[in-house]
Amino acid sequence: MRLATVAIGGERHIGVVERDDVRIVSRHPEIPADMVELIEGGTPLLDRLREILAVDGGSLPCLPLGEATLLAPIPRPRKNVFAVGLNYFRHVQEGAGYRGEEAKRPDWPVFFSKAPTTVIGPGAPIPRDSRVSVDWDWEVELGVVIGQGGRDIPAEQARSHIFGYTIINDVSVRDLQRRHGGQFFRGKSIDGTCPMGPWIVTADEIAPDQSLRLSLAVNDVVKQDGETSQMIFPVHDIIAHLSLGMTLEPGDVIATGTPDGVGYTRTPPEFLQPGDVVEARISGVGVLRNQVVEKES
Ligand code: MG
Repeated sequence: MRLATVAIGGERHIGVVERDDVRIVSRHPEIPADMVELIEGGTPLLDRLREILAVDGGSLPCLPLGEATLLAPIPRPRKNVFAVGLNYFRHVQEGAGYRGEEAKRPDWPVFFSKAPTTVIGPGAPIPRDSRVSVDWDWEVELGVVIGQGGRDIPAEQARSHIFGYTIINDVSVRDLQRRHGGQFFRGKSIDGTCPMGPWIVTADEIAPDQSLRLSLAVNDVVKQDGETSQMIFPVHDIIAHLSLGMTLEPGDVIATGTPDGVGYTRTPPEFLQPGDVVEARISGVGVLRNQVVEKES
């Protein structure tokens, strides 16, 4: 199932995307309008939603997808978006090459986070604020949405804690990322730097060993093209490491790292400019499209 958060007349709703339409399932009294609430309902609520769709889905309102305003599937995560750095070796290599260093595979996953105020939806402008920086870069990533919460989750059980998958563009402000003591948080948490969407594909639609192709294009020029099978730490290992001693909750989101092809390591370096259209694409999930717009002061 493809679950979207839809804005209708100032209200938020949950829609199920069916080909070119989105069915507004939260019009049904048993289905919440908030995605995290739906996720908290667990398998019983998801099964009930499937039953409602099968039995009287036709009675629920439907919008053409092209006319619906989709928000980020989780418009305001209740805590920071977790993120993994340096999780694809060719991306490790391009960064090391830029610094004139030798590339080293990390022994442990590198974690950082993005503030909830970074999250924007599909189609929303990326508000490039040139007073803050002009070094705005792109990073396509598979987003994992936690379903059942837990701590100390073994990798072998991680799959049962995944609600679904989405696309994240971990927009990164490189000079801020570097200059604050080498930790990433500052340069990763500027407002509007976490485009997310266009929806969540539920975990049952992606086989555990399935490699997903992820790519990113700027103005139709492909910049990144990789496979999730190239992750140094696969999704299940990420969940095991992250949940060690720290409780993951329903609706938590993890950005799982980006393949090579980012802008700052290019010769000459490339950064996002006002007007640029950025398309992040993951097979089996969809396309997340955002345009860069200069933020008005
Ligand atoms: Mg990243």
